[in-house]
Amino acid sequence: MFKFSENANVQLNDYLSVKPEYLIDPFISGNKYRKLNYNVLDAKKRGYQTLLTFGGAYSNHIAAVAAAGKRFGFQTLGVIRGEELATKTQGNPTLEYAKSQGMQFHYVTREAYRTKDTTLFIEELNQQFGDFYTIPEGGTNELAIKGCEEILTKQDEKFDFIVCSVGTGGTISGIINSAKSHQKILGFPALKGDFLRKDISKFARNENWDLITDYHFGGYAKINSELISFINDFKSQFHIPLDPIYTGKMAFGVFDLIKKGYFPKDAKILMIHTGGLQGIAGMNQLLEKKNMVKIQ
Ligand SMILES: *Cc1c(COP(=O)(O)O)cnc(C)c1O
Repeated sequence: MFKFSENANVQLNDYLSVKPEYLIDPFISGNKYRKLNYNVLDAKKRGYQTLLTFGGAYSNHIAAVAAAGKRFGFQTLGVIRGEELATKTQGNPTLEYAKSQGMQFHYVTREAYRTKDTTLFIEELNQQFGDFYTIPEGGTNELAIKGCEEILTKQDEKFDFIVCSVGTGGTISGIINSAKSHQKILGFPALKGDFLRKDISKFARNENWDLITDYHFGGYAKINSELISFINDFKSQFHIPLDPIYTGKMAFGVFDLIKKGYFPKDAKILMIHTGGLQGIAGMNQLLEKKNMVKIQ
């Protein structure tokens, strides 16, 4: 169903390369494609016609599920955090895109959103919308991790460090499970908080990983002008676009650690570019409002 063509790694210099997962698909971006693959197959096999998932107003996952649904013949239903957004779909690039792919929205208050994993919440949705296949927020479940175990391939065995951005921890868990024993996996969380280590330990079958928690820039979707200028410089130097929520922070962190001598001499590092480029438009709206330099 999902087609993958393996993209060659892009070498930035002697020790640093990028795995361009963002090239997999322009709309079902990077790791979200990997995470959805086996879920969509499972939903098809079990005869579901509707995919339901959850997310915020700028969520890469919401955009990816909407696109995957349209492409593979499912109706899609997005439970969106924030009731006030119901009147603001227009002008929000992510929600407008998801809508163009046929996604139907169900806006809920932040309090209600917090109960989204309860049976009661799901039953109420069932009454309103009928039967659906549920994909969790951010898309992380066993099948998603199985998909992410296919990110690393033979060409990646030569690297000593594999680094990736971390949201819910699904992507890094798949990478950890498929890495070789000589490789160390470093995750850069895009949000604050210590819960991630525990979440990753639930799915990861190896111990060869660590989290670098110094590069969240104040929390999820928080940015500053230093980060934006790093992203713009990176693009003009290497011709690779980075997103401001995930991959930009990871790459910033890697460059900073290199400067500080964190990595052993001669270590070869592979950065996984997990995609997320659809989020740039929404962030640029915000930057414009704040009169800050935009992402190029
Ligand atoms: C969702 C996302 C992540 C985080 O993936 P998890 O599996 O939730 O940790 C990283 N990068 C990008 C671009 C994403 O969209």
